[in-house]
Amino acid sequence: MTELLPNYMAGRWQAGSGEGTALLDPVLGTELVRVDSTGLDLAEAFRFARNSAGAALRALTYRERAALLASVVKVLQANRDAYYDIATANAGTVKNDSAVDIDGAIFTLGQYARWGDALGDVRALRDGDAVKLGKEPVFMSQHLQVPTPGLALFINAFNFPSWGLWEKAAPALLSGVPVVVKPGTSTAWLTQRMVKDVVDAGVLPAGALSVICGSSKGLLDALEGFDVLSFTGSAETGATIRSHAAVTQRSVRVNIEADSLNAALLMPDAAADGESFGQLVREVVREMTVKSGQKCTAIRRVLVPEALYDSAAEAIGAKLSKITVGNPRNEGVRMGSLVSRAQLDAVKAGLAALSAHAEVLHDGRSQPWIDADPAVAAIAAPVLLGARDADSAHGVHDIEVFGPVATLLPYKNLAHALALAHRGQGSLVTSLYGADAAALGQAAVQLAASNGRVHVVTPDVANAQTGHGNVMPMSLHGGPGRAGGGAELGGLRALDFYHRRSAVQASPAVLAQLGL
Ligand code: NAP
Repeated sequence: MTELLPNYMAGRWQAGSGEGTALLDPVLGTELVRVDSTGLDLAEAFRFARNSAGAALRALTYRERAALLASVVKVLQANRDAYYDIATANAGTVKNDSAVDIDGAIFTLGQYARWGDALGDVRALRDGDAVKLGKEPVFMSQHLQVPTPGLALFINAFNFPSWGLWEKAAPALLSGVPVVVKPGTSTAWLTQRMVKDVVDAGVLPAGALSVICGSSKGLLDALEGFDVLSFTGSAETGATIRSHAAVTQRSVRVNIEADSLNAALLMPDAAADGESFGQLVREVVREMTVKSGQKCTAIRRVLVPEALYDSAAEAIGAKLSKITVGNPRNEGVRMGSLVSRAQLDAVKAGLAALSAHAEVLHDGRSQPWIDADPAVAAIAAPVLLGARDADSAHGVHDIEVFGPVATLLPYKNLAHALALAHRGQGSLVTSLYGADAAALGQAAVQLAASNGRVHVVTPDVANAQTGHGNVMPMSLHGGPGRAGGGAELGGLRALDFYHRRSAVQASPAVLAQLGL
């Protein structure tokens, strides 16, 4: 039997009492480790996090907690090589794709450490200026933000075992709120290992960071009113979470990041031999293939002027045909596998559903794999679909295929393109490609209502732009409607979720003593 990874909670390592769920190498099919959360005392663990770790964290200032984040960065950097090995083995990713998860996490933590340092040695945050409550400024109202005296539970998706933890933990710990993470089971090893390294290094107060791997059973039942819950995953699980008594009766604050049908839009004035056309093609291919398309922000719908439909299909297909697919350990492989056979089945089912509304424009499934057995490996080759009638291709605007799949859609004019983009019913990101700054600016404002982020690529930012699907801590991550309605990152605004807002009504002399 393989090693059963212990959980870390209530300040100590605790093994589940069950057999455990095996985590597999999705390329070789071999068992790597097991995880289990059976029989754990969650109520005790959550109490310890709230009362002991929470109190220790809140006793520190923002600057002191920022220094903790900087220490975590050092621990993760020192163990980086091991993380790459685990990502290759358990997630089937090539080095460049593992970097998005691992180095993306370290960068985000480092950024919050810098921002937190600038908040200084205070224990509460000023929220706007004091305003007078009467005619004279003798009795005033001052809003402030203080850390919530609960814990932050993260229920995370399988596709970002590293970044998914740290992009949430950075603002939570900086806010003074202890973290309990339950990673997606199939790739939980990397999350567990990172927590283990940080715990072993002793850089955080005991219980400030806990990890529970395996079933989520009982986690929500153990939440109390001052706790917060941040969920990333499917819309279906998100709906179950929203209806739980912790949320509906105990007012646990919840943030939901769900699936999203993001779009890339080539502006109407683009030409097949122009720079914007080339930029869109490169970005679509990158988004389809990075992490085998298992990114919540990946481009699923590609909107192009109808006159450019055929040339876009040809150009994207030509680039996709150069993508080598197979075992991520082979240097010649550009795209590795999905995380599991279950995900492969889900991608196949999604492709079949979309094919009812679309034609296949490029089919990578006919290309041979490098160093991988099709009977074992969870590899999905890139497939570009197309629907010449973008309006009636309903499935394309409804079904998220979480793999290397995108659909090309022609539009008649910009108003039509924006209407099609809106049919995602709320997305994480739409990217625009063009050169007319005025038209791009207006389109960005129109898309803002249905997108968490609008990413505009003009020729002058070709080298500076950060990538359609790349989530930077400086910008909001999340999206309305179908995308879950969540809000993460976006600078220090991310701290709001982990704070309680309150108004103190008092004389200026008292307000001067709030230590803001
Ligand atoms: P999922 O099946 O919904 O699982 C997400 C997490 O919820 C996992 O940790 C899962 O545990 C847990 N879970 C399952 N059932 C639960 C329940 N009844 N109560 C509480 N927790 C429960 O989603 P997934 O398949 O892992 O993730 C893929 C989806 O996530 C995609 O649709 C993708 O678009 C979305 N995603 C969104 C973002 C974003 O930021 N918006 C980022 C990444 C991924 P187990 O693993 O043990 O089942």
